Amino acid sequence: MDKQLQPHEFVAIKEQVIILNKAFNSVNDKNVKAVVQADVVETAKSILPDTEIATDFLNQLPEIATSRQRAERAFKQLAELVTPFPELSANQLGKLFKKVKKLPEPKWENLDRHEMTYLGWNDNGSQKKYIVAPRDGKLVGIYGDFDPKPLNGLCAICHQLGTVSMFLSKVKSRGADGNYTKRGNLICRDSSLCNAQLSSLDHLASFVETTLVK
Ligand SMILES: [Zn+2]
Repeated sequence: MDKQLQPHEFVAIKEQVIILNKAFNSVNDKNVKAVVQADVVETAKSILPDTEIATDFLNQLPEIATSRQRAERAFKQLAELVTPFPELSANQLGKLFKKVKKLPEPKWENLDRHEMTYLGWNDNGSQKKYIVAPRDGKLVGIYGDFDPKPLNGLCAICHQLGTVSMFLSKVKSRGADGNYTKRGNLICRDSSLCNAQLSSLDHLASFVETTLVK
């Protein structure tokens, strides 16, 4: 089967179903409901590939949005179209973090790779966060100090409000030979939650550009 949906697109579809579900539950006006429904179907259509599973999903969208169970079942089917984030071996990870001597391993068994645009995991012992993100068709590794203090704020990666912490990464400062400066970004403490609300790649891309040591 063709895998034609990216994890962030899968998340975007889920968001549309939530929008429609909210409209069904909170709006009384039939016409308003119809407008929201048409809008959601249109948006979902623009994201989904032209396949049988996707067409079925679009046709059933109004019913899918009426209950959580229906939605979960439909998402399970739709997940078959998603190219999951690759499960990287310890060796592959090591190559992405050459300067890290003892790289802790992510807990793959806890991760839903179908809604994972990037891989992020914390090492609470050393207060570090490790990130593997796509850049120009390749994966790059970024790591830095991750403040243990949780804050309420806007995440630089998913651009949603939530529990974030300061991520400090070393970057080479332009023009200065071999000098490093630290760059700080507030990002979600829990990268699984971050991924589950990441429906656009824009902010992730700028985060990677500003934190990657090139
Ligand atoms: Zn986030």
